[in-house]
Amino acid sequence: MVDAYIGLGSNLDDPQAHIIRALEELKQLPGSCLVGRSSLYVTSPVGPQSQPDYINAACRLGTELGAHDLLEQLQAIEHCHGRLREGEQWGPRTLDLDLLLYGSEIIDMPDLKVPHSELHRRCFVLQPLHEIAGDVVVPGHGSVSDLLAAADCNGVRKLDHD
Ligand code: ATP
Ligand code: CA
Ligand code: CA
Repeated sequence: MVDAYIGLGSNLDDPQAHIIRALEELKQLPGSCLVGRSSLYVTSPVGPQSQPDYINAACRLGTELGAHDLLEQLQAIEHCHGRLREGEQWGPRTLDLDLLLYGSEIIDMPDLKVPHSELHRRCFVLQPLHEIAGDVVVPGHGSVSDLLAAADCNGVRKLDHD
């Protein structure tokens, strides 16, 4: 079993519902179990500003899937949520599932970079991740706690209820 951390994001068509449903779907992945999840956060968009705010969250999966198989499963879930890929970079989407960490592995392939290449500087990722993985080390960058302390977290707000 490997501990994998997934970042979830949505800003279209009832984002909160997409995130909650995606967490249920992640629970069902073969050879995997959901062992932790963060609260939901409302966050300002990165990239094009003329799009709605996002809902973001993070979760921890214990999984027997290899990293590429896991990525494929994440993309299949995105597809089921009607995710279209022809939009502008960082444009609005119904569901984005990023593989943030896969154990302590470093993967540098054209289609898969782990740790996720922006994880260490994105507050909308670090804040939810910190709730479930404060002590975890992002290979090459230090602990999630230290990274969060160095990040500018304006524009990230925890939802009281989900
Ligand atoms: P960002 O990666 O900056 O968060 P994005 O999530 O909007 O941007 P996508 O359009 O969802 O980017 O994904 C583009 C490609 O990124 C995917 O086709 C996938 O192969 C690749 N990719 C590389 N590393 C990862 C990873 N760790 N998790 C998910 N996708 C990844
Ligand atoms: Ca992303
Ligand atoms: Ca993505």
